[in-house]
Amino acid sequence: MKETIVLYPAAAFHHMASMVELGKLIMQHHPNLSITILVATMPFDASATSSYINHLSKTDLPISFYSLPSIHLPPPQQDSHDTKSRVASASEFIHLNAPHVLDALRTISLSSSVQALITSVVHLYDDSLHIPTYYYYSSCASTLAILLFLPTLHNQTAKSFKDLDGTLLHIPGLSPIRASYMPQPLLQRDDPTYHFFLNFGSCLPKSKGIIVNTFDSLEPHAIKSIADGACVPNGLMPPVYPIGPLITDAKDRAGGTLCDASSECLAWLDVQPSRSVVFLCFGSRGTFSEAQLEKIACGLERSNQRFLWVVKSPLGSTTEPNLEVLLPKGFAQRTKERGLVVKSWAPQNAILSHESVGGFVTHCGWNSVLEAVSYGVPMVAWPLYAEQHTNAVVLVEEMKLAIPIGMATSSEEGEKEGLVSSEEVETRVRQLMELEEGKVLRKRSLEMRTIARAAWTGGGTSFTAFSKLVASWKLG
Ligand code: UDP
Repeated sequence: MKETIVLYPAAAFHHMASMVELGKLIMQHHPNLSITILVATMPFDASATSSYINHLSKTDLPISFYSLPSIHLPPPQQDSHDTKSRVASASEFIHLNAPHVLDALRTISLSSSVQALITSVVHLYDDSLHIPTYYYYSSCASTLAILLFLPTLHNQTAKSFKDLDGTLLHIPGLSPIRASYMPQPLLQRDDPTYHFFLNFGSCLPKSKGIIVNTFDSLEPHAIKSIADGACVPNGLMPPVYPIGPLITDAKDRAGGTLCDASSECLAWLDVQPSRSVVFLCFGSRGTFSEAQLEKIACGLERSNQRFLWVVKSPLGSTTEPNLEVLLPKGFAQRTKERGLVVKSWAPQNAILSHESVGGFVTHCGWNSVLEAVSYGVPMVAWPLYAEQHTNAVVLVEEMKLAIPIGMATSSEEGEKEGLVSSEEVETRVRQLMELEEGKVLRKRSLEMRTIARAAWTGGGTSFTAFSKLVASWKLG
């Protein structure tokens, strides 16, 4: 019987895309194995996921997709920053899917010998099938350390992290971190999202191993602490396999063909000077209020730098952004020689790899960070939601690959609380693109790019971790 690895991504598009990359990696190194990905009908990102899978199914990628029966859930609330409602839907979805996953594994086992299940979903399966289960954690080792240590932290305090603002938390592998910088879904102790992740943190060590999309030199302390078991002081820690950076192909994400706007922005980059453009993009859900968009525009204009900016519609709006209305009067005309604004979506990966791009203002989603690291692009960290504030701290303080951007915290600064002022945007963009801080970051980012590539050469740390992972499967 054919030896098979089954992958089961959680209910979000980026889990699917990242797992497909993992599947490709396994196939590339072990073409005799077969890979089956379980596809669940996602409560969100449904159309992106289905066009992505349709596209991949038409390529010669030797990966099978196994569709699980549909599950209907009410869509999460419209606020795209609302991680809580997404986690609640995902949790319900995962729970309802569990029997279907078991059925699928039974069916696949009739014709194949399933050597491992790799999943980003909390452990729900009984052991009756005797299939070793591995977790794939598609974010950074630092937040993985937090999740693994969460059950311990939970027993150390009865308060919510959001009420411990001045307190520094001591988590193995991380510098002491302010409680308010913990991942957003963990801030409020009585929230279901907190309990979802508390359970997740308790289940992770029960797996056969944890695969994480990072690499040794990027997060040496966090990886070492996890591997040494320091994050699970009262239990056993399975092996950890840092096999990153795995990044998704921009064309695959776009369903195989880039739209006209995407091609236009790559053509625009072709005629810009080397490393001269700052790219601003805030992930799949990064939206701003109209007031904040205006401040970004003013800051960019005053910075005098070349820019490529992806603008999504403001919070609450479901239509394409109307740039005429959203951006300051005359902005497009005044900046047309040195700036390009793209509506809603741009091929980020291809942009970051372009020679003309010299800096990236990012929301610190982990895929975005890894893409910038892989192409040696220094960053301004502007976290918005989910675990991004934690990522930003790690990116600035530990990795030293980004400059932080600051929000106005009091009306004394003449700014509305919670907004980043146009002066701050101007200052950080200039720092990144033309001042000494930016030069230091650029040098370090280019060095990290070289190290990232070396991690996947023979004998490199990610290659070695991946080889150990495969060796742990009982292949014939
Ligand atoms: N992305 C893109 N174009 C966009 C916005 C996002 O290609 O206009 C891609 C980006 O390259 C990355 C992913 O979407 O691979 C975003 O993942 P990340 O983890 O950074 O953030 P999330 O969207 O999960 O908040």
